[in-house]
Amino acid sequence: MSMSEGEKVFKDPVHGYIYVHDPLIWDLINTREMQRLRRIRQLGTTYFAYPGGDHSRFSHSLGVYEVIRQMIHAFDRNGYPWPHDYDRLVMVAGLLHDVGHAPFSHALEKFLQRRHEWWSVALIESPVTEVHQVLESQQPGLAKAVADVIAKRFPSPLAVSLVSGQLDADRLDYLMRDSLATGVDYGKFDLARIIRVLQPLEDRLVVRQSALHTVEAYLLARYFMYWQVYFHPVSRAGEVLLRGILDRARTLLSAGESLLMPHPALLPFVTGELTVEEYLAMDDMILYTAFASWQDGPDPILRDLCQRFLYRRLFKEVPWSQVAPLGIDTIRDLVRAHGYDPGYYCVVDETSTVYYDYYLGSDREPNHANAIWLYDKRSGRITEVSSVSLPIQAIASEHRPLRRLYVPEDVWRDPAFQHIVQEQDRRGAS
Ligand code: CA
Repeated sequence: MSMSEGEKVFKDPVHGYIYVHDPLIWDLINTREMQRLRRIRQLGTTYFAYPGGDHSRFSHSLGVYEVIRQMIHAFDRNGYPWPHDYDRLVMVAGLLHDVGHAPFSHALEKFLQRRHEWWSVALIESPVTEVHQVLESQQPGLAKAVADVIAKRFPSPLAVSLVSGQLDADRLDYLMRDSLATGVDYGKFDLARIIRVLQPLEDRLVVRQSALHTVEAYLLARYFMYWQVYFHPVSRAGEVLLRGILDRARTLLSAGESLLMPHPALLPFVTGELTVEEYLAMDDMILYTAFASWQDGPDPILRDLCQRFLYRRLFKEVPWSQVAPLGIDTIRDLVRAHGYDPGYYCVVDETSTVYYDYYLGSDREPNHANAIWLYDKRSGRITEVSSVSLPIQAIASEHRPLRRLYVPEDVWRDPAFQHIVQEQDRRGAS
């Protein structure tokens, strides 16, 4: 479709409308790689915990583009110097930054041993993709420049910071979108004001001094969203099953067992050796189709794990600190006594994040490239936010990994299991 009719709009729950004026953006939205993101859940298995949290990577990608578009407009309205040569580059990079996501977004990155950023760059640079062809036909070398912005190797740190930084369009959109979709209200913050108080200053993005509390609200929203949504034990339980299914399928294949493969891209996906074409063929729907066929297959473990995933018979968890290190062998024996293979039914899940990636803590050095800077126009001084904010100091120093042990519910309910947990608790306390 051409853009001869003028402006295109998408209705959007976060931004009201998403406006497209540039035919290049429109052509990129209509590539098969971008349209594939409609079939990938933004929050992976979070819908097990929050039924509303099943929105797609596609709407988030449009949202990131829209936030960058609004940022550039706000720079102009306020008369801030912004290099307009970069307009198209950063809007395209925002739109395409997540194009490399695997099925269920982050949930399978460990299984595939590649992060989505690697795939985003690979897809944009690969001559077989439509996004590559659209970019190169617009301007030779554009694909590489866009990939460089996403990979943070583009020469202008200012251009990169709009797409990925501590206060970037990506985080601004996903926090608002995920909070709206899940119904977790304390993940919200004043997005319009953040966009209004950002300004380019030489090679970095700074925040107007008077907006300290707006920044605090944003960082606290991020903190709450991690604890309430991204680290939710039920959401992680879904990931544990998802990884278990694919690990089991991989083990069966390498043992020479045959597996029903409802799509040709499944075999390379399970073995982990994928071409760009095969990677792009995979989405959430194909995995559901595979699970639906494996739930009746000959292997009892694969069958059971698929049924658990399809019908939400999730494992239950206890904090790892209540188990490790003394109780784990006893628990593995107990899991075996219940008739389960502990390799799949006694799983330690570990996750962690950094809420604000700039440390003032005793053992870590501050990283200036990862700071959020407040700018005082009168004095011309810039100040790093956590140095003037107690709440930000508190969350900036919080970066412990979160570990949980997952077992099937019947094991979890076994008084012997609860006894081990309580016993460890008592030892830990004394
Ligand atoms: Ca993103």
